Amino acid sequence: MKENASKEKLFWKMENESGCPVCSLLMDYEFNLLANIQYDITNDDSLRKQIAMGGGFCDFHFRQFKKIANGKTNIVFLKTIIEVGPYKKENFKINCKICEKVHEYEIAAVQIFTNLLSTVETAAKFEQSNGICFDHLKMANNFIKDVALRTWLGRTHIYQIERMKEDFVYMNGISSFYEIDREKRGLINALIQKLTGRKSGGL
Ligand SMILES: [Zn+2]
Ligand SMILES: [Zn+2]
Repeated sequence: MKENASKEKLFWKMENESGCPVCSLLMDYEFNLLANIQYDITNDDSLRKQIAMGGGFCDFHFRQFKKIANGKTNIVFLKTIIEVGPYKKENFKINCKICEKVHEYEIAAVQIFTNLLSTVETAAKFEQSNGICFDHLKMANNFIKDVALRTWLGRTHIYQIERMKEDFVYMNGISSFYEIDREKRGLINALIQKLTGRKSGGL
């Protein structure tokens, strides 16, 4: 897929959304990829066979695929997997094309993220946001050579979580969930994602 991770998109996510901006970019990319793949599987016999040869997708992407493709497409695809028979190979293991592509995109997105931290203005914006998830913190640390920046990122990450305590204490004090404003409620998903990564975000 030609779509590239960009600095502008990542910065936009950081300023306008409450969760991990890298996860958010990945979910957009993943959704488009799934939509294209389900189109190919529905309409192109040879591509369908080729994807079926890999055994389909990992459990996470199969569940997503099942959600966005219609019932007929799911049936045609699973029937093709039975016909082309990748499961007959010894030590059969699914080779998930979506994971492969998403991972390539993820590396590019994390690199762009670490570049964003090198200017004072964007680093300050990042500090004010809820930051990134633990998965992407780990990946980012692999790209950051500057020890001081790595230390700063680690401290900021913890600070961003601790700072939410006030909001959770406030929300806990309100008797009806729906009386809490949307932005504050958004912190529930934001914190779950910060702790667990993008897969808790679903589709
Ligand atoms: Zn993330
Ligand atoms: Zn996968």
